[in-house]
Amino acid sequence: MSSPTTLPPFEPLDPAGIDDLLSDDEKAVRASVRQLCAERIDPYVADWFERGAIDDIRGLTKELGSLGLLGMHLEGYGCAGMSATDYGLACLELEASDSGIRSLVSVQGSLAMFAIWCWGSEEQKQEWLPQMAAGDAIGCFGLTEPDAGSDPGSMRTRARRDGADWVLDGRKMWITNSSVADVAVVWAQTDEGVRGFVVPTATPGFSAPEIKHKQSLRASVTGEIVLDSVRLPESAALPEVRGLKGPLSCLNEARYGIVWGAMGAARSSLEAALDYANQRIQFGKPISAFQLTQQKLVDMNLEYTKGVLLALQLGRRKDAGRLRPEQVSLGKLNNVREAIEICRTARTILGANGISLEYPVIRHANNLESVLTYEGTVEMHTLVVGQAMTGHPAFR
Ligand code: FAD
Repeated sequence: MSSPTTLPPFEPLDPAGIDDLLSDDEKAVRASVRQLCAERIDPYVADWFERGAIDDIRGLTKELGSLGLLGMHLEGYGCAGMSATDYGLACLELEASDSGIRSLVSVQGSLAMFAIWCWGSEEQKQEWLPQMAAGDAIGCFGLTEPDAGSDPGSMRTRARRDGADWVLDGRKMWITNSSVADVAVVWAQTDEGVRGFVVPTATPGFSAPEIKHKQSLRASVTGEIVLDSVRLPESAALPEVRGLKGPLSCLNEARYGIVWGAMGAARSSLEAALDYANQRIQFGKPISAFQLTQQKLVDMNLEYTKGVLLALQLGRRKDAGRLRPEQVSLGKLNNVREAIEICRTARTILGANGISLEYPVIRHANNLESVLTYEGTVEMHTLVVGQAMTGHPAFR
């Protein structure tokens, strides 16, 4: 047994010593993403959030690509072929900077690239994946519609055959990166069920007006997709999938990244709250010396620690090919719900300063309102886990 003097120090932001469960290579991936975030995102992101615009999104996307972060857990076609755990650690670091930046990486890699990688033709993969992995082309993923959100099966966007071509008509809503994208993966009803289409955004009839007035995920581009008789060759359809299984498989990938990412926003807010509480003096002592503040800090850290452990467990299962979609729902549901509570509690510790963009917490809390809703709402994931537990689907 080791004597108390040889024990490693207590790490306030890793109180259970979860780092012990990571390999040196995994820690190196985390360190390189953390460095990119510190240099390229953190100094600017509050300003991007305030203005609702990311400066030089193409340049940033290329830098993310050159670090191998776009489609990083996919094999071949210029993708980095890293593990699911590496990808999760990267998502955590990116979201510690901002959920909008993690969204950019998730949508590119887990939604648009994954759809092509998993369900595309060899020609589609060769054409799009290398340039998307490098960040030379930006992708988006159009599933949600004005009247079809949680229930994508009710989508109205339609693709009909016209001779050798497909013609697409319809409207998608709340699509990350649509107005800056070079290529959109669009899901539409056909006579053969729901199908996916790889649509170059320069195709006549395609437009993507930006959605303004967001108070969440402001360092992220969100738009509509309007499809007005968009004519595409047969080769634009994703050949390997029919039905909602196609888009749901992609969402499952992106949700997995959110399980980790949400804990990044939580860590950033916890860190800010701890620093602030140690420095802010009221009633003659640091507010961290008051029992009520300590209780908040400890409760935040407990939920953060449990969330990271859950993410890591799901990551290990994914790397072993044993991760079920219901388990991803479990993780997304818990970690986003707890992360938003951590950020809101951090906000109270910062008092009035908590509402200022001088500190990251209100930005993270506001961002997580979107993360709570997209990629399946809290309610949808509750119903997924509820069905898995009871055998009763309670969606309708
Ligand atoms: P609705 O489905 O209308 O739900 C409204 C409320 O009703 C929710 O609380 C929901 O949980 C609840 N509800 C619905 N049905 C039930 C039920 N059966 N039982 C209990 N409660 C129920 N979509 C894309 O396709 N691509 C993107 O890139 C994308 N990016 C996004 C970016 C942002 C910033 C945001 C905010 C959204 C984005 N979305 C994207 C859309 C997102 O996935 C949807 O908003 C989400 O699926 C919910 O759909 P909805 O907003 O239509 O809400």
